[in-house]
Amino acid sequence: MDRYAVIGNPVAHSKSPLIHAAFAAQTGQAMQYETVLAPLDGFVAAVEAFRSTGGRGLNVTVPFKLEAHALATRRSPRAEAAGAVNTLAFDGDTLFGDNTDGAGLVRDLEHNLDCPLAGRRVLLLGAGGASRGAVVPLLGAGPRSLFIANRSADKADALVEHFRACAGACLLEGGGFPALAGRAFDVIINATSASLGNAVPDLPAGLYADGALAYDMMYGQGDTPFMRVARERGASRLADGLGMLVEQAAESFFVWRGIRPDTGPVLQSLRQRS
Ligand code: NDP
Repeated sequence: MDRYAVIGNPVAHSKSPLIHAAFAAQTGQAMQYETVLAPLDGFVAAVEAFRSTGGRGLNVTVPFKLEAHALATRRSPRAEAAGAVNTLAFDGDTLFGDNTDGAGLVRDLEHNLDCPLAGRRVLLLGAGGASRGAVVPLLGAGPRSLFIANRSADKADALVEHFRACAGACLLEGGGFPALAGRAFDVIINATSASLGNAVPDLPAGLYADGALAYDMMYGQGDTPFMRVARERGASRLADGLGMLVEQAAESFFVWRGIRPDTGPVLQSLRQRS
């Protein structure tokens, strides 16, 4: 049976084995999906051990996405743009690296949440790995404008410069949180890790336009801190990142197996569990 796994540290909490088992059952693929806990200084050795014992591919999670990017011998354009790899596929001597996080985000927004991005004013909060991986897929959806805002303004500015050539007709801007004062957005995406520490980014009031969606890449039981504050600040719609997790997994599944699973029932069953 073909073997796959999610590799990270920590990794025991990962929902990926559940998601991929559901995809495999749904599509009739004979495969098994495990977790691999790699030592913080032992990512490459853990990948090689998995591969040498017949492993066909890996999902890569915190904190190894940059190391996976460096390890890949061939990378997709979206992995190059993100500078990070969350999916490895092994084919002979080739280690193919892809990044499905941004595509998963856009698919969740547009398909699951029925929130088309074309012509919208989008605010992306954060300038870490998740934000970087989201920029090109977001631009590809044709928003009117994309503002990247970060607590440390210089990192947001650097991302804007990095991606300027991909912006096309979209107005691409960046800066610190104070630079957002007086602006309004249709979609606000929290790609900071603030929710992990039960904190929320310190944003000016009045950012949510009529009908705006507040989206937190983080997920957990019930509303995240970001979602709770967004509701108080006037967001009309709220969503967490569970749909993004399922959609990025589906995209990885497609990279490995060439089949696109139906994510709807899998997302629904995960929601019922949490
Ligand atoms: P990084 O560590 O790379 O980046 C962290 C970012 O958060 C930085 O921009 C940092 O700002 C900002 N930040 C941290 N704390 C605060 C705070 N209190 N207030 C404001 N900004 C803050 O993390 P990642 O980009 O890898 O991950 C970000 C989030 O996305 C995580 O919650 C992660 O769980 C989630 N995620 C979800 C996925 C999904 O499938 N749903 C997939 C990938 C990520 P500064 O530069 O100023 O330090």
